[in-house]
Amino acid sequence: MNNFPNYRGDLFYKCQECGAEFEGDELYYTCPRCKGVFLLENKEFSKLKEVSGQKWREIFDARLGTKLNVLRGIFRYYELIAPIFEPEDIVYLGEGNTPIIEANHNLKKLVGLKFFYKNDGQNPSASFKDRGMACAFSFLNYLVRKFEWSEILTICASTGDTSAAAAMYAAYVNKAIKSVVLLPQGKVTPQQLAQPLGSGALVIELPGVFDDCMKVVEFLADNYRVALLNSKNAWRILGQESYAYEIAQWFDWDVANKVIFVPIGNAGNITAIINGFLKLYQLQIIDSLPKIIGVQSRHADPVFRFYSQPKASRTYSPVQVEPSVAQAAMIGNPVSFPRVKNLVERYEKSGGTFHVVQVEEQEILDCMLIANRGGHIACTQGGECLAGLLRAKEKQLIVKDEEAILDATAHMLKFIGFQQMYFEENIPPSYEIVPKPELINKPVQVLDQTTKDRLDFAEFVQRAGNEIVSLLGISKR
Ligand SMILES: *Cc1c(COP(=O)(O)O)cnc(C)c1O
Ligand SMILES: [Zn+2]
Repeated sequence: MNNFPNYRGDLFYKCQECGAEFEGDELYYTCPRCKGVFLLENKEFSKLKEVSGQKWREIFDARLGTKLNVLRGIFRYYELIAPIFEPEDIVYLGEGNTPIIEANHNLKKLVGLKFFYKNDGQNPSASFKDRGMACAFSFLNYLVRKFEWSEILTICASTGDTSAAAAMYAAYVNKAIKSVVLLPQGKVTPQQLAQPLGSGALVIELPGVFDDCMKVVEFLADNYRVALLNSKNAWRILGQESYAYEIAQWFDWDVANKVIFVPIGNAGNITAIINGFLKLYQLQIIDSLPKIIGVQSRHADPVFRFYSQPKASRTYSPVQVEPSVAQAAMIGNPVSFPRVKNLVERYEKSGGTFHVVQVEEQEILDCMLIANRGGHIACTQGGECLAGLLRAKEKQLIVKDEEAILDATAHMLKFIGFQQMYFEENIPPSYEIVPKPELINKPVQVLDQTTKDRLDFAEFVQRAGNEIVSLLGISKR
């Protein structure tokens, strides 16, 4: 069971706007006919249906303990993701298989429901983007092997985490692949800027916001031979589907009462998660679809706005973003919106439920702090999910016997500057966040340097000890 699978699929790009199909062996980002976005589909998908759902569950469960590196991460679900790669194509840097942590008593009481965080911040570059990058880079390896390309330049615009992941995978693969990342100047956290620099990537800063960088990247990808690593890249979507597969497997392939909360930025992640659950359902690996609820900040909410209109007359328009602490989701014109729209239609036709809720910046940051005070490692987007859960509860989109799984899309440390501003009460007014005294935590200084200098060491230990004792009000044993 721990052998590399024999099955091979035949992947092709399918345009989500005009339906045109193109060979999967090429680097496409948008449809040459209509500029629409693609999803990858498998011409041999029906062959997978010849294997029963039960058998698939057994196959994936058996791979849980494999020591075959190439099947340890997202490619545990090889047949569902990109079954064209050979083992030597696959890059594994420890991505995927992130833990699902049940909220403690206090948090469950606060929310009034059982819920879990899936800690995608425990991926190697500390965000879920590694799932997609592992697949995108495996594809580049596949192309380099197949066509004997001598050099390929990868490029991405980023709200921070895409570039961190891209630079890390490029640094590992090295060989013919070189990586350039474009960042909106001053709009990524210092940690996210440090990551691609540390990986040795060429980092280019441009004035403006993410959407401006994206336009420049599109110009380059349309006119030059570069591999675009933004979520327009349909290979990334395939890799990110693993998030859905892992949830289903963790709950023993029964997700009937589960509600999946996902923050929406460029909408690639939610695309992947919807598609992932649909594939499991088509193969009867799961027999019912979980409810999926997207979450957006009021400061960047085009997808929420679309779905809050009456079904018959929905129109999509990009929005001008306002500053958001959920900075990785601060996107006014999500490139994956057409994918979401199509997939949601299919999801609903298959009996699944989809909603989008809107939350305030205040709720996002408060919720991140509250979650982490309950032992989690949620980033601001993870806080956004908890805020979304509270909103969904208030709107009765989630009810008593359902259980929520919140996506902590990155590690809290990447976004720690927002916590710091909150604690130091200097959040710029445009975020519209007022720190709550009960959530503020600051270091307490005991003795100062001048006092310490006046004391010998034994006196210092005693004085400091006594001050801590009186601070804590503890009694002698
Ligand atoms: C990229 C990112 C998002 C947004 O995901 P999309 O696929 O763009 O919707 C959310 N959180 C974090 C931490 C991210 O890096
Ligand atoms: Zn098209």
